[in-house]
Amino acid sequence: SGKTDPILRADGVRRSFGGLTAVDVGHLEVQRGTITALIGPNGAGKSTLFNVLTGFDRADAGEWTFQGRRFDGLAGHKVAQRGMVRTFQLTKALTRLTVLENMLLAAPGQRGERFVGAFGRWLWTGQEAANRERAMELLARFKLDAKKDDIAGSLSGGQRKLLEMARALMVEPAMVMLDEPMAGVNPALVQSLLEHITSLRDEGTTVLFVEHDMDVIMGISDWIVVLAQGGVIAEGRPADIRSDQQVIDAYLGA
Ligand code: ADP
Ligand code: MG
Repeated sequence: SGKTDPILRADGVRRSFGGLTAVDVGHLEVQRGTITALIGPNGAGKSTLFNVLTGFDRADAGEWTFQGRRFDGLAGHKVAQRGMVRTFQLTKALTRLTVLENMLLAAPGQRGERFVGAFGRWLWTGQEAANRERAMELLARFKLDAKKDDIAGSLSGGQRKLLEMARALMVEPAMVMLDEPMAGVNPALVQSLLEHITSLRDEGTTVLFVEHDMDVIMGISDWIVVLAQGGVIAEGRPADIRSDQQVIDAYLGA
């Protein structure tokens, strides 16, 4: 996985809150087909960068492309439709809906698309059936199929993380961005989450994830980008990052 085929390229991305510069990234690339970790101390700007890139927050400046298309200025739902999907540090599962309903809400064709013509109804039904089938496949994959009719609010924190990941995959994204997917997940589930992330990559989905656990990061990442005070201070393969004094300082200084 050399630096040859960026699925995401960003330049000059800035976001400030009042006088605080939360993100100021000169240049960032994510290579297609890799697991790339975005690491850095608390407050480094990781979540803000995710928010801005995925259209959940506005940037003050910056240009970025995903699969060669400009994405800056694109609304969040369009970003997702076009294959770049993220999860949140704090899960956003709709707790009063069932697990299956949560999945179906994330499906393509759920945003009021209208079908015209004599076959409109047929097309809609076909899409609905396909969505349901995909939802059930994903729930099975994340071992949530037996809970499909349970209210999402009744799931454990870890199961909600799995639901959120399953939900993100409903649109068959080219890249998933996971903001602290292991946080609050019990150790038994961490291992299966890691396996899911690795198999996503192996199936061709690019993964960009935020994580704090160094063993996890070093174990599954192809590339690591280190953020501190909003800017990229280092990047490289796990072995290079592990021995990078700047990185060690950034963490110990936090
Ligand atoms: P990380 O995810 O790396 O821990 P964040 O992106 O959450 O960091 O935050 C980066 C900085 O921006 C922090 O100083 C945080 O307090 C600040 N920040 C994030 N979101 C907001 C907001 N909506 N309003 C004001 N400050 C914010
Ligand atoms: Mg964060």
